[in-house]
Amino acid sequence: MSDSARMPAIFFGHGSPMNALEDNRYTQAWEAFGKQFPRPKAILAVSAHWTTRGTAVTAATAPVTIHDFGGFPQALFDVRYPAPGDPALAARVAELLAPLPVGMDQQWGLDHGTWSVLVKTYPQADIPVVQLSIDIEKPPAYHFALGQKLQALRDEGVMIIGTGNVVHNLRRLDRDASGQGWGWAARFNNAIRKYLQEGDLQGVVNYQSLGQDALLSVPTPEHFLPLLYILGSKAEGDVLDIPLDGMEMGAISMLSVVVS
Ligand code: ZN
Repeated sequence: MSDSARMPAIFFGHGSPMNALEDNRYTQAWEAFGKQFPRPKAILAVSAHWTTRGTAVTAATAPVTIHDFGGFPQALFDVRYPAPGDPALAARVAELLAPLPVGMDQQWGLDHGTWSVLVKTYPQADIPVVQLSIDIEKPPAYHFALGQKLQALRDEGVMIIGTGNVVHNLRRLDRDASGQGWGWAARFNNAIRKYLQEGDLQGVVNYQSLGQDALLSVPTPEHFLPLLYILGSKAEGDVLDIPLDGMEMGAISMLSVVVS
């Protein structure tokens, strides 16, 4: 297959689940992605909201919509994203990640990390979606390496998406933030952005070297790690673009990355 047929890989800074219902500059960009790129045959999603010990993929033919949050309006609990599963893609992921054992999960469905963005990008929910779990016990370089192993999918009509946030500290939300955010959050986000712009992907993988700014911006790794799958899936000659950025409530970065 030629390079032009290669599917993009996208990291979505997903932010609040309410984005699924809202219309703002982030969700408008997510909608635009759906029109901008060729329609994928299937989507492989790595979401911050599915962490496991070991690695698993969703293998159900009709994955359920998971409302994995509390304290939001009923309208958000009413959202369904009835995209079909794709057991053949789940098996292909396991094949690419071999000899790593990959569990074929029948319980997990699509969590809000995945559906809150796809409901905007592909509102018809007619493209099969498989989720890959994040082995939370493994270091950042491990997740980058898994992304590299998955790169081949992009030449097989599969779009890989990562959904999380570069900065994600819910204990430090500042609801009165003027838009500047905290100093540590802005510094960390800018440092990651600079690594991305310079093509220094190892700088991103080694984000913990950013010290205190990293500890505050990434207090737990699950929202950061999906980005490493997208960077790992970058092929030689691909262009890396940052179509969207912004800091919400002082401590949630909406920075998004497209590799194409
Ligand atoms: Zn989240």
